[in-house]
Amino acid sequence: MKPAPFAYLRPGSLTEAVAALAGEPGAKVLAGGQSLVPLLSMRLAAPSMLVDINGLPGLDTITADEAGVTIGALARHADVLASDDVRRVQPLVPLALSHVAHATIRNRGTTVGSLVHADAAAEMPVALTLLGGSLEVEGPGGRRRIPADGLYVGPLESSLHHDEIAVSAFFPALAPGAGVAFDEVARRHGDYALVGCAALVDGDSVRVGYLSAADLPTVVDLSGVPDDRLGDAALEHLDPGDDIHATADYRAQLVRVLTARVVRSAREGVGR
Ligand SMILES: Cc1cc2nc3c(=O)[nH]c(=O)nc-3n(C[C@H](O)[C@H](O)[C@H](O)COP(=O)(O)OP(=O)(O)OC[C@H]3O[C@@H](n4cnc5c(N)ncnc54)[C@H](O)[C@@H]3O)c2cc1C
Repeated sequence: MKPAPFAYLRPGSLTEAVAALAGEPGAKVLAGGQSLVPLLSMRLAAPSMLVDINGLPGLDTITADEAGVTIGALARHADVLASDDVRRVQPLVPLALSHVAHATIRNRGTTVGSLVHADAAAEMPVALTLLGGSLEVEGPGGRRRIPADGLYVGPLESSLHHDEIAVSAFFPALAPGAGVAFDEVARRHGDYALVGCAALVDGDSVRVGYLSAADLPTVVDLSGVPDDRLGDAALEHLDPGDDIHATADYRAQLVRVLTARVVRSAREGVGR
């Protein structure tokens, strides 16, 4: 199938891009196009205009300091994954990114685009939520920062306003002595996960984030839960579903197995 007709705009400044979105209620931002273009081609989305942000200057930066990692809206998954500074400051970012799609898609897709797309089957929204990160967005009224725990409001739905553009994402640094780990099960490497888990262990604090196990990226606090009950305790907060790829029972079993695995790896520093 081919996309429905749409107007195309490639603005040269953020102000121009925001104004275009504000003036056209049916407009959508185009970043890497790795989620949006398939939706257009299947006619699951039919925006009246695409505002292509790929020509905007200064949005492709990746910086890492003692506070954390800041990823610009046009930084590609592959560039973030290749950054030694990112790996050193917050190893969960590359651990999760290495499971995102295939190399060709990571060359074009943006990490910020993935965060805005808000897919509960995607890796990076879970990593951002688990780490307590945030998204910086610009709209007609200026800039604001949306904490990850206020970002995901429904399936494929974020709390960005229609006329806001995400300019960067911030992932806090890993605290000294803390450990992280990520693991998932997919039918083939690079496919969306049947279930995925990210763990953050810091002293007695044990928190685990889940993808493809509920309608939203979900983080569960498992501090104080005995090791042999971790997965079952997590399942009290999750709602793994049935689809053509896996039954709900199989997904629940993956939650049990992967939770035990990532918590152990995070404690041992193996997932880093
Ligand atoms: C075959 C295939 C397999 C994939 N597998 C995975 C996978 O396993 N895990 C995974 O996480 N992803 C996967 N993806 C998706 C991929 O990670 C995308 O790159 C990502 O989801 C979206 O990033 P993008 O830059 O391509 O955004 P686009 O496709 O351009 O945009 C996606 C959505 O976000 C909005 N948007 C994008 N950037 C901004 C911004 N800066 N401000 C405001 N709105 C914005 C767009 O308007 C659109 O609604 C896969 C894609 C394909 C085609």
